[in-house]
Amino acid sequence: MKTQVKALVVGGGAVGTSIAYHLAKAGWDDVMLIERDELTSGSTWHAAGLLPLFNMSYATTHIHKYSVDFYKSLEEETGLNAGFAVVGNLRMAQTQERMDEYMLYASTAETCDVDYEWLSPDQIKERWPLIETGDLKGAIYHTEDGYINPADVTMAMAKGARQRGVDIVRRLQADEFHWTGTHWEVTCTKMVEKGGNLVPSDEQVVITAEHVVTASGNHAQRTAKMLGIKMPAIPVEHTFIVMDKDPELVKWREAGNPEHPVVRDADNESYAREERGGWILGIYEHGAPARFEHGVPDSFRADLFPLDLDRIAEQYMAMAERVPSCAESGLKDDFNGPICYTPDGNPLVGPAPGLRNMWLAEGFSFGITAAGGTGYYLAQMMVDGEAEIDMASLDPKRYSSNWMTTEFAARKNEECYEHVYVLHHPDEERPAARGLRTSPAYDRQKERGAQFGWVNGWERPNYYAPAGFNDAEARSFRRGGWWQYAVEEAKAIREGVGLVDATAFTKHVVKGPGATQFLDWFTCNKLPKVGRINLTYALTSNGTTRTEYTIVRNGENNYYLVSAGAWTEYDADFLRKAAEDKMEEFGYIEIQDVTTQWGVFAIAGPKSRDVLKEIINDADPETALSNKRFPWLSARQIELGMCPVNAIRVAYTGELGWELHHPIEMQNYLFDLLEKAGEKHGMKLVGARAQNWLRLEKSYRAFGTELGRDATPAEADLPRFIDLEKDFHGKDAMVETGVRFKCCTLLIDGPADADPWGREVLYTEDGVTRVGRLTSGGYSVAFEKSIGMGYVRPEDAVEGTKLKVKILDQLWDATVTCESPYDPSNATIRQNG
Ligand SMILES: Cc1cc2nc3c(=O)[nH]c(=O)nc-3n(C[C@H](O)[C@H](O)[C@H](O)COP(=O)(O)OP(=O)(O)OC[C@H]3O[C@@H](n4cnc5c(N)ncnc54)[C@H](O)[C@@H]3O)c2cc1C
Repeated sequence: MKTQVKALVVGGGAVGTSIAYHLAKAGWDDVMLIERDELTSGSTWHAAGLLPLFNMSYATTHIHKYSVDFYKSLEEETGLNAGFAVVGNLRMAQTQERMDEYMLYASTAETCDVDYEWLSPDQIKERWPLIETGDLKGAIYHTEDGYINPADVTMAMAKGARQRGVDIVRRLQADEFHWTGTHWEVTCTKMVEKGGNLVPSDEQVVITAEHVVTASGNHAQRTAKMLGIKMPAIPVEHTFIVMDKDPELVKWREAGNPEHPVVRDADNESYAREERGGWILGIYEHGAPARFEHGVPDSFRADLFPLDLDRIAEQYMAMAERVPSCAESGLKDDFNGPICYTPDGNPLVGPAPGLRNMWLAEGFSFGITAAGGTGYYLAQMMVDGEAEIDMASLDPKRYSSNWMTTEFAARKNEECYEHVYVLHHPDEERPAARGLRTSPAYDRQKERGAQFGWVNGWERPNYYAPAGFNDAEARSFRRGGWWQYAVEEAKAIREGVGLVDATAFTKHVVKGPGATQFLDWFTCNKLPKVGRINLTYALTSNGTTRTEYTIVRNGENNYYLVSAGAWTEYDADFLRKAAEDKMEEFGYIEIQDVTTQWGVFAIAGPKSRDVLKEIINDADPETALSNKRFPWLSARQIELGMCPVNAIRVAYTGELGWELHHPIEMQNYLFDLLEKAGEKHGMKLVGARAQNWLRLEKSYRAFGTELGRDATPAEADLPRFIDLEKDFHGKDAMVETGVRFKCCTLLIDGPADADPWGREVLYTEDGVTRVGRLTSGGYSVAFEKSIGMGYVRPEDAVEGTKLKVKILDQLWDATVTCESPYDPSNATIRQNG
């Protein structure tokens, strides 16, 4: 057995095996995989093997699509048949809302080249007469996917990996990880059987590896402890049952009819597929508990939990109504096993927080479906530096370790499991584990009707509604019950003044003798002069956008960096690692994450200066906020009443405004002061939804939508923020990449009751050729119609180009606007006073 390798993969389930295979395929010839028990002995062996292409996320759809295509090719490569039954997937809807959900999904599918068909209840009945369709509105049908044998596909990938030189060692458990500064030393223990349990022997070996990947499935909590990090990957119980033969199904198949597709009865929270003349019925039921919060016991190997029939009774009965011919079929077998989850249902894939060359592939709930694509894209990240798709939505650091706990993960994972078939409204806010990170003004905002959204644990007002308003009932795939409130808030900022709580922003101080040279190298725009502000981007080594920063220069070597609130640890980790790497070259650089020390209120609107004038403590309040004394894109330390404020003259809404960064413990004082001063100017409290619409009117790109690791800042069409005169990280790659597609803003003549959400597909004006996709969408109060931003072919990103956008399964007119269709000259932002 080798003891020195380039990459060590820990875990021989579907995911780890695929990663080992793809690392070898990508050219690494020194890869080893260790498995503490037998290959597939984790969750993989008892999976139902369904491979649904359906997924609401762009990145995950790419991952699933790769898997489905890849599994089809495995037999030819390895000679092993993984039992891929390409029977398709029929996803049924009992309500118009469910059809709306499918229509939104269908648009994402189209952007990822995933085919689908619409079927009416009659068409379903005609093709599959055993299915009861009386209560259905319709269905979406994929023909390309189906189900596979999870153990066989893993074995086929293992064979393929071995053929490519991967060393696979079973009964070896990783027990300790030590980073030497250049490589990992992984202490592994030989595992042996004792009384049916798998226990560690006295035999140990140390494997040195340049890179380590953990794919430890249900053991993620143990892995996290060994690495000294946090991972919200905790399994939940998941059940499928195998039913006895269905006599009508047997007859149907004996008559030469093809196998039924996988039948997804979303509104009944279950899926079913054929299994030897009967049905397998899988259920996403309520009340399934989280398991192994503190580790998997030695006694639990390829084991299952006892069946809880009460928990699944409702869905079991519903199946008998959906396929009445199975009503008399008894229960033949049951599988209630651990299925790993994360709070948002996406796995944790990418670099581990704070560690070098440590990669995580944990928390897979659709691990059979995702294994192929995860192996492919993670190998790209490890071998080439970046994947061709933006993997940020799967990044392990999207849950910051400074606030995340085991209890949070367990409760959120139970909720996520239960929500698999709950309608995935794009304006959904889930109820579990809320109120964890609240800014001091939370109670005041709540009293004034704030409906909160969840951002990396923070509670942030989405919009404000009258007392008694129920956000859960206001959600929709169209314009929800909250829409009118957001319109009023957006208008308040355009016409008067509004106050937004932006406390969740990520904030870093970067200072020290090496700070200036470092940031000049780290970001692509010119650094601001002392007292000034710049918008800038940190790039990946592939030249794509890693992070967007507003940089405030407080001193020669003292900077305050503001970035997106959802991404604190994701940004912190990249910044710290880059600074560590460059310290020797540039000198000492100190980095402090000050996110929770500073509250932020953004005041914006033509009357914002009038409000601030009332409370600013200055020798000459009349001129303190004038263009002369406080120009646009500058920062000043001011006093509002008795609160010291670092004020920044920027506004994400594109209106005259200031961000007021204040000591968080003084937030309530400042809130009361601003509210009182704002009263006579009609100041309105404004939430994130209106703010998001307003930034679209200004073509301000947002991180996580327009800005990400799949496009360069040049493709995001931000030339004014790129200083090509200087050298910066990722510059050469960005230049070499050129402009493959380009970001633009579109005004849309859409449906009367719906706006785009930022997942819609774009076509040429004749509706024939696909040219791109929206990344953001909403409503423009300035133009009184829908608005979106997205990426299109460079030749289409020209003002006046007529395109079509698909919303709710219909094509609507969309016109590419100029950059910043609202106030293109920034006259209102620069307004003097
Ligand atoms: C009832 C049920 C039905 C399911 N149906 C489907 C389905 O239809 N489609 C689908 O896509 N998914 C399905 N799943 C989910 C699927 O089973 C998992 O997502 C998938 O198996 C996860 O694979 P993995 O490789 O991440 O984890 P695992 O298969 O759990 O593999 C992890 C491996 O790591 C090993 N390991 C852990 N720690 C160490 C260590 N320190 N050293 C060495 N080895 C270690 C473990 O022994 C284990 O073999 C289902 C799950 C359940 C419970």
